[in-house]
Amino acid sequence: MTASFTELGLSQELLKAVEDLGFEEPSPIQVLAIPALLTGKDAVGQAQTGTGKTAAFGLPILEKIASGKSVQALVLCPTRELAIQVSEELSKLAVHKRGVSVLPIYGGQPIERQLRALAKGAQVVVGTPGRVIDHLQRGTLRLNEARIVVLDEADEMLDMGFIHDVTRLLDRMDKRKNLGLFSATISREVMDIAWVYQRDAEEVTVREDEQNKPDIKQFRMDVSYDGKAEAIAKILNETGFDRCMVFCNTKGNTERITKFLQM
Ligand code: AMP
Repeated sequence: MTASFTELGLSQELLKAVEDLGFEEPSPIQVLAIPALLTGKDAVGQAQTGTGKTAAFGLPILEKIASGKSVQALVLCPTRELAIQVSEELSKLAVHKRGVSVLPIYGGQPIERQLRALAKGAQVVVGTPGRVIDHLQRGTLRLNEARIVVLDEADEMLDMGFIHDVTRLLDRMDKRKNLGLFSATISREVMDIAWVYQRDAEEVTVREDEQNKPDIKQFRMDVSYDGKAEAIAKILNETGFDRCMVFCNTKGNTERITKFLQM
């Protein structure tokens, strides 16, 4: 399962960006998704936030596009927050690729600013479905040259009622060659999209135990209501941590525990 970014077949510009970001080795979803998408296969991946899924589809997208006026790749996200986050990550990965820019397009931001940015030209657009359709209808965004589409958090996007917007967009992209579907759960609706719009897709699901999880040991203790503060003190005394965070469920409890630990 282990591979290096170099072995995945990425260009120098992208390897440099990956190095700048301090990524030492590809995460399991990256090992599976990057070669598949690079060879032009469709991919369907079950991956949560934190697994490195953005770079898993972002690196192949950036590898496959070139500078030029037209939008060559589209990433659809369910929320504006995710669109901004994904766009920022892709911009960091694209930093050494000349003439390639990544533009977020989402509802809630004044449309004029997006119009100016679109007029300048972007090669990758990351957007929420409603606003992307809005721009298509105004004629301010053209997707007829887009070859790669990724649906990020597809289950959430379809749950939020964007299914018609998504299919409308996919139907209008005549030159689309690649579709990547990334989702925390592969719901019925996600499978329907995969069935209709993908061909011979590579499944890039990573098993739970292989995911990029922080090294955290979890345990629980059953204690009475009155015994909780003492239980925390006992953990702190016995483990000898330098730092510790305690999460409480109410303001009152937060104050009580703080006073107790200060004492
Ligand atoms: P994501 O699952 O795409 O939201 O990524 C979660 C975080 O992991 C982001 O901050 C990424 O920049 C970071 N990340 C992605 N790939 C790697 C990697 N191979 N090594 C270390 N960090 C990574």
